[in-house]
Amino acid sequence: MRSIRECVDSECDSISRVRPLTDQGMVAQVISHALVRCGGIHRSVTLYSLSFGGSNFHVHPRTYVHGFLQKQIKTAIIILTKKIKSMGKIIIANWKMNPQNEKNAVKLACQSDFLNVVIAPPFPFFGAVKKVLKKAKLGAQDMFWEEQGAYTGEISPRMLKKLGAHYVIIGHSERRALGETDTIVNKKVVAALKTGLKVILCIGEPRQVRNKGLTAVKNFISKQFKADLKGLNLKSYNSKLTIAYEPVWAVSLGRYDKHGKSDTPENAGYMIQWIKKFLNSRFLIRNSMVLYGGSVNLKNAKSFLGLEGIDGALVGGASLRINEFKKIIRISQSN
Ligand code: PEP
Repeated sequence: MRSIRECVDSECDSISRVRPLTDQGMVAQVISHALVRCGGIHRSVTLYSLSFGGSNFHVHPRTYVHGFLQKQIKTAIIILTKKIKSMGKIIIANWKMNPQNEKNAVKLACQSDFLNVVIAPPFPFFGAVKKVLKKAKLGAQDMFWEEQGAYTGEISPRMLKKLGAHYVIIGHSERRALGETDTIVNKKVVAALKTGLKVILCIGEPRQVRNKGLTAVKNFISKQFKADLKGLNLKSYNSKLTIAYEPVWAVSLGRYDKHGKSDTPENAGYMIQWIKKFLNSRFLIRNSMVLYGGSVNLKNAKSFLGLEGIDGALVGGASLRINEFKKIIRISQSN
């Protein structure tokens, strides 16, 4: 008989999604399948209320759990918890309206092709970039909420899926600055999730709000969340939603604000923890990843990616400087 450790390992290896084990449903599935493989049970059971601490779990009430199985499940949870901790964080490369030709886009994509990386190129380079990606996932920088029709210049979520996109960035501050309201952001989030795309929702406060202090920042962000996630049954989309906390004044280093610079890691870390607690208490969201974005570069990457609770970073400008970006990816993998 194979050991539970071997079975958990081979189950994990067969999953190729980006950072899949932060998804509680996936954790339950891995454990359940591993138990079948090692002969602990004959067919998969529904596991729920798993605790990553390794002490709490329940199986479906109709499943008889004898002492041996209980021990196996506990061991599997401990092994998985260690695996999750050792996994790299996620890095989103937002290329914005760059580079200027397909050849350079392909070059950049080939060099950025690592696990736990999402590349968001401009739409004209989608096909060429998709072709060369083996490990990284493809993401879009925006989309429209309707499926089809007379919407000049827009692209639908289904079109994105067909082009091979796994992710879509929604509500980026550079789009909000062009007039995108919370109502529009909400329609896009709903449409993307319904189509099966993973959403990277950007939220963050402008400089004048930050200047008023943290209470004003929290009020601003909670209003943004309530509007952007309005009407969504988030329980079913929990693990499909990634949040990028991007203080507007820190994005693209001073593009809109001559005093702009990255947030301090202390503030970013505090806000990320607060966002996780807020999402949990307001929307019962427990599995969503929360990233920091705003002028992340080689100099500050370690201090952001080393933060407790941070699940990765959204990187704009530095994702175009390939040597620097590769080093940022390496930092993310070791933190
Ligand atoms: C971004 O595009 O969301 C971003 C954070 O850009 P930059 O890293 O250039 O500030």
